[in-house]
Amino acid sequence: MAATLPVRIERHGSVAVVTIDHAPVNALSKGVRDGLAAAAAALAADPDVAAVVLSGGPGRFVAGADIREMNLPPDEPFVPDVIAAFEALDKPVVAAIDGAALGGGCELALGCDLRLASPKALVGLTETRLGIIPGAGGTQRLPRLVGIAEAIALVSEGRILKAPEALALGIVDEVVEGDLLAAAIARAPHAPKRRLSQLPVPAGDAAREEAAAAAALKGAKGVPAIAEAVRVVRASRAAAFADGMADERATFLRLRESDAAKALRHLFFAEREAGRVPGLDGAKARPFAQTAVIGAGTMGAGIAVSLADSGLAVTLVERDAEAADAGLARVRGLYERPVKSARLSQAEADRRLAAINATPDWQALAGADLVIEAAFEDMAVKQDIFRRLDQVAKPGAVLASNTSYLDLDAIAAATARPEDVVGLHFFAPANVMRLLEVVRGKASAPDALATALALAKRMGKQPVVAGNGDGFIGNRIYAAYRRHAEYLVEDGASPQEVDAALQAYGFAMGVFAVSDLSGLDIGYAMRKRRAATRDPAERYVAVADHLVEAGRLGRKSGAGWYAYDTAGAASADPAVAAMIAAARAEKKIAPRAFTPDQIQRRLLAVMANEGAKALEEGIALRASDIDLVFVNGYGFPRLKGGPMFAADAMGLGAVLREMEAAHAAGGAGSEPAPLLVELARAGRSFADWRG
Ligand code: NAD
Repeated sequence: MAATLPVRIERHGSVAVVTIDHAPVNALSKGVRDGLAAAAAALAADPDVAAVVLSGGPGRFVAGADIREMNLPPDEPFVPDVIAAFEALDKPVVAAIDGAALGGGCELALGCDLRLASPKALVGLTETRLGIIPGAGGTQRLPRLVGIAEAIALVSEGRILKAPEALALGIVDEVVEGDLLAAAIARAPHAPKRRLSQLPVPAGDAAREEAAAAAALKGAKGVPAIAEAVRVVRASRAAAFADGMADERATFLRLRESDAAKALRHLFFAEREAGRVPGLDGAKARPFAQTAVIGAGTMGAGIAVSLADSGLAVTLVERDAEAADAGLARVRGLYERPVKSARLSQAEADRRLAAINATPDWQALAGADLVIEAAFEDMAVKQDIFRRLDQVAKPGAVLASNTSYLDLDAIAAATARPEDVVGLHFFAPANVMRLLEVVRGKASAPDALATALALAKRMGKQPVVAGNGDGFIGNRIYAAYRRHAEYLVEDGASPQEVDAALQAYGFAMGVFAVSDLSGLDIGYAMRKRRAATRDPAERYVAVADHLVEAGRLGRKSGAGWYAYDTAGAASADPAVAAMIAAARAEKKIAPRAFTPDQIQRRLLAVMANEGAKALEEGIALRASDIDLVFVNGYGFPRLKGGPMFAADAMGLGAVLREMEAAHAAGGAGSEPAPLLVELARAGRSFADWRG
């Protein structure tokens, strides 16, 4: 079979159609750039060609740069030069956009004279999502087309526009309902030459531009690329096109090498990789149009909203009629905020609410394809529910539990069909948080897991498959992290210092502030339950117990690790400092000082070490899955790429030394993971470890 070239030219009379054919998404990899550069040169030299159509074939255009190549040095021909070659042709070039024209693909379209789109087209300069700015003219051509204020908003958010929005903004010239390619071929010979590079940037409204820049910087959340994008877009007004291009390119190349961009690229690949699960090849998802949730508390209500938001019908089952009403009221409450802030219309909220039916009647579960249990975190309660579920659920229904810590296999054993049981561990608030841990029990059938993954996709969530072990991936690592934060406090840091160091690292909230928000009673109850089985050689910090026993349950009781005023503002509390001092005195600990850097390194090492244990035990499939869990479920800063990526960046030798110190501080349970020891000694990293 002859190798297909990624770019080919076909003649339709005087029109040359240049087709990019590089599965799956026509990324601008080296071969495509070579092909396009050669095509532009051939077309320039061919007097018989009167006009050009640039196509990505059916359902596609160009979805962007080849992100893998971004970890290598830039290689000629460069995208901006390829685009310039098409723009410079003395014949009109029409982009026929039948799919994603994103990043470099959008820039390629902006280098054409006319842009025709099908209703399936998606257009956007999405580079800032990867910690870079457009590097092939996007920041200079787009403002010439839509004005500076609009360009700032589009580039800084990396917004992806559907065809009608792109048309309304003038980014595409026409949306073609029928045969896009035929329309483009018909239109091309009559299309005027319209080189965006030669147009002036429209005079804008200074106040609007200022507001757009301010909004972009406010939403930037520390992503350096956003501030740079704003600067380079704004510079397009004063600078000559060539100078603007040079500035854009230099900025792009600098950001491309930044740690933040490397971290975001890592997460991009991690997300794709997470869907690849061994043993699932060929397993087809079962249907899941009819869903049910058991328990309409904090989590159940959020899960029901998330299901309804994805267009699925939901039956919510509660203990009695009163609890069902309360559950529905909770669901209604969750729809109030987006309606108030105009993110959702009342009509749409009503439509989604109508898809949720709350009842105490278990027979209502009989029609469900998928049931998610979100009742109390208590094995006896869950086993009782699954036993009863076994009686009413239809054959083949997927039975899921939202348990945070409990043994999924023991829950599954309450049924006669453990192969249909999986864990679906949502994070609070379930209608907002992207992470979904999918727990694979020892009997979970491949198609039951495939259903869970398909559901996650439908819900717009990031699934990560976890094995069945205490706390799965996330809560297990979080528990070690929190425990060591408490050791640091008992050894001399204040809770405020620990939280400040974590925030300085990039966490939205510190660990003690998070504990106060979730409520200290939950952890307290768990510690009491587990007291009998705790290893006496594990160091135990009793301060959190003392807080609860003093009635300090966190924010909900007005005090926890912090004091809260009536407006909810947190402050250090001398009473807590006294409790900590007493705990130190009791253990004869002479408090020492910790710098923010020491706190950050210690807690990062602890997270990575516990992650290594989860890898060895097969609870996590790969280090990048752990990164996804922490970034999407626990507020770990995206720009650091996740704890395993950050540990690799720190160097596993240094992580191991830090972990040895952590072991000395924490005792049993804090041993360096054998995998960490092995990789550190071999000079290797988590990234190159494959089970
Ligand atoms: P919750 O107490 O707010 O809600 C539990 C609900 O289940 C209550 O409304 C209760 O009436 C109902 N319920 C209890 N037994 C039932 C039964 N036999 N039949 C029908 N309904 C029953 O608890 P929650 O915080 O929503 O947690 C629910 C589950 O989700 C737990 O397993 C928990 O570990 C897990 N989880 C919680 C969080 C969180 O942050 N709250 C996060 C992830 C997972």
